[in-house]
Amino acid sequence: MQETLSLKLIVYAISLIVLITISMLPTFLEQRRDLKITSTIASVFIFLSLILLDQQWIFLGGLVLAMFLEVFIPRKNYNHDSTEISLSLGLGACGKMLMLPVNFFLLDYLNTYYPMNGGLRLASSSIPILLQLFIYLVITDFKDYWLHALAHRTSGFWSIHKIHHGAAEMNCLHAYREHPIYDIGTSASQLVLAYCLGVSMELYIMLSVILNLIINISNHVNINYPPTDQDFPWWGYIVVTPNFHAWHHTFSCRYDANLANVFSCWDLFFGTFETPWGNPDDWQFGVRQDSYPKSLYGELAEPFNQILARDTSSTNS
Ligand SMILES: [Zn+2]
Ligand SMILES: [Zn+2]
Repeated sequence: MQETLSLKLIVYAISLIVLITISMLPTFLEQRRDLKITSTIASVFIFLSLILLDQQWIFLGGLVLAMFLEVFIPRKNYNHDSTEISLSLGLGACGKMLMLPVNFFLLDYLNTYYPMNGGLRLASSSIPILLQLFIYLVITDFKDYWLHALAHRTSGFWSIHKIHHGAAEMNCLHAYREHPIYDIGTSASQLVLAYCLGVSMELYIMLSVILNLIINISNHVNINYPPTDQDFPWWGYIVVTPNFHAWHHTFSCRYDANLANVFSCWDLFFGTFETPWGNPDDWQFGVRQDSYPKSLYGELAEPFNQILARDTSSTNS
């Protein structure tokens, strides 16, 4: 068990070094199309090997199904840009590689000082397992709503989260285009919540699979659902739909609307709900004012560059 984990950590570390090295090359050798393709292939390869290393077959199946739907019933047709694909997969792989050791050390720390079945002791209660899962999901989603609100309302958090909004096209791979700091923040807080509620390790893993596989992919899949030329369905006010989250990524959406991840009713309760409208073919995605380098290295360094730039301007003023 220990040997398998050490082997995983070594493979993750080597992948991280390779990924960051190839991601830095385009910044030194710009305008080289062949290099762009090489880095895309390398990102795809590393992303897939990390999934297979964890034997996440269900995850891979979900991704393939989403891609299948995007080919046959797309919301918008794109000429896929290899830089965008490379960035989504590269950032996804970096987040995954950095999340593992952080979660490993956090788990070790929590196990040493707090029992897994402590806190509210949900696991040892008489509450049925599915109800336990639902309670854990609702509380985690409430936490994620406010984390997302914070990311849109404070400049420090926005410099981390805007990487997720940087892509000009929406597709299921976009789900993994997140700065590793944001990935680590959401997964670590989910783990801490598991200890506070006292849920079992199985339930924690089950929720991680649900959020990563069903929710994250379905929120970003490029399909026009529910169709915008029909009345918005009543259940769209309860759960997040692909078009509800896609609207969050458009230029037409208010800067802090449609923040929910699973239950759209949080947006309804806190006054941040916007109904998607218009022809999805006209929707524009991306970040309006900000510009930053379209390279993996540039996107990873962006929050730190913003902090340095703020420090310099406050020193000069
Ligand atoms: Zn956002
Ligand atoms: Zn998103």
